[in-house]
Amino acid sequence: MIPEFRPEAFTDFSRPENVAAFNAALAKAKSEIGRTYPLVIDGEARELRDNFPSINPSRPAEVVGYFPNGSAADADQAIEAASRAFKTWQYIPVAERARYLLRAAAAMRRRKHEFSAYMVLETGKSWFEADADTAESIDFLEFYARQAVRLLDQTDMLTPYPPEELGLYNIPLGVGAVIPPWNFPNAIPMGLVAAAIVAGNTVVFKPAEQSMWIGWKITELLWSLGLPDGVVNFITGPGEVVGARMVLHPQTRFIAFTGSKAVGLWIYENAAKIQPGQKWLKRSILEMGGKDAVLVDETANLEEAAQGIVASAFGFQGQKCSAGSRAVIVDDVYEQVTGRVVELAKELTVGAPDEGPHIYMGPVIDQEAMKRIMDAIELGTQDGKLLLGGSPLQTPDNGYFIPPTIFGDVPWDAPMAQEEIFGPILSISRAGNFDDALRIANSTEYGLTGALFSNSRDRLERARREFHVGNLYLNRKCTGALVGIHPFGGFNMSGTDSKTGGPDYLLHYTQAKSVAERL
Ligand code: NAD
Repeated sequence: MIPEFRPEAFTDFSRPENVAAFNAALAKAKSEIGRTYPLVIDGEARELRDNFPSINPSRPAEVVGYFPNGSAADADQAIEAASRAFKTWQYIPVAERARYLLRAAAAMRRRKHEFSAYMVLETGKSWFEADADTAESIDFLEFYARQAVRLLDQTDMLTPYPPEELGLYNIPLGVGAVIPPWNFPNAIPMGLVAAAIVAGNTVVFKPAEQSMWIGWKITELLWSLGLPDGVVNFITGPGEVVGARMVLHPQTRFIAFTGSKAVGLWIYENAAKIQPGQKWLKRSILEMGGKDAVLVDETANLEEAAQGIVASAFGFQGQKCSAGSRAVIVDDVYEQVTGRVVELAKELTVGAPDEGPHIYMGPVIDQEAMKRIMDAIELGTQDGKLLLGGSPLQTPDNGYFIPPTIFGDVPWDAPMAQEEIFGPILSISRAGNFDDALRIANSTEYGLTGALFSNSRDRLERARREFHVGNLYLNRKCTGALVGIHPFGGFNMSGTDSKTGGPDYLLHYTQAKSVAERL
């Protein structure tokens, strides 16, 4: 019997033995940097002559690994391999498919710090953030394994009809294109792949260009459990080449994407076009961006509110879709809360996260992100008052470090307060009163996460009804959703309204077949 789902505990880095174990994992990861990896299609490793690097954003000259610059033809072959594997994988009993996930969870738990260490080096995650990412990955495996066993046969939900024997089976869709971002490089791809394959689908997984190393490591872990060839195919290359072909291929049945609004909209549109030879309507499961707000009213515990704002805005350098990149504070307490937020943000340590657990903020992901964020800062100075940060940090290794940057008195409709920047920038707007704050919160095209700090029962109830976000948090930060506890996913331009880690998530990867046999 499978025990009840329990979320994976986070590592306590105040304990010296945990610090030593994590340092040992970092040393192991460092001993592996600079290798060249293949594509894996139908279980066969294929090296290409043309490879491109994935780098450490703390020290951009350090290449963590080289990966094949795959082409559209490689994507075709991977989709075709997945189609062949689907013929048998779909009939493997669900309990057996679920066991692969449970074994993967156990294997990752044994090598937990190692998986986190790859992320510290490849994506600049702090130890705490990397540890949480690995824990979430384990949680997805454990949670979806249990959900699959529960959800895939729903016959017992039918009304009995004695003349017939009835069945209601949630059967798989077919071949999926799994296209994740780099910012949760373990948990997001593992969650998407696990959901797809436990439901009986086969996939082509293309990691983001900035996180191919950890993408390789998690796929290798799945293969090491004896997963049949072709169930999970691994391909790298530019998103607009290989990713786009995976979306357009007529044998692709669904696309599981997490990333920016721009790419998500392109996929939504192009997946809807029927390709020659295509026999179905493709399904798009899209998780996109956010411009998430933390609201504070005059009844709130102001210290907790300030701490919540800082944690929501600057965890993983603000590079979370759930990041509280806007704070909306009512006039009466605006100065007090803003002052405290600036003080707290000043204390955050910025540096290369492999230095130790004391580093709270690492680098932003790459040079392109650095430029985009610096451009947004420049534009922001026209609209708001720069209260903290604003200039990149100079480091000997030319890492992509931007310190916590805060703008105050930003008009609610300025670009800084409406558009996703995806970096360590907090925009603070003033609201006349609670009603005004709520209106401002709902004013963007997104609807992912949001938080309200208040001690008014009436306002907390109103926020429950009127704050239009997929994940609403009351009197706590707006990041850090836990699998099975805070099912995650947003409204409006934040996605297609699915909830990862939620009780019905796997249904997105299935279609229901109703069977009746006259007795
Ligand atoms: P991105 O959209 O640039 O890339 C995401 C993936 O799409 C990558 O694998 C990329 O290679 C691929 N891609 C790019 N062009 C493509 C194309 N034309 N066709 C197919 N695939 C293509 O996003 P990113 O920079 O990797 O990630 C950051 C974004 O992800 C932010 O907007 C963030 O809010 C969002 N995000 C959302 C969630 C959520 O759950 N809603 C979670 C994490 C990140």
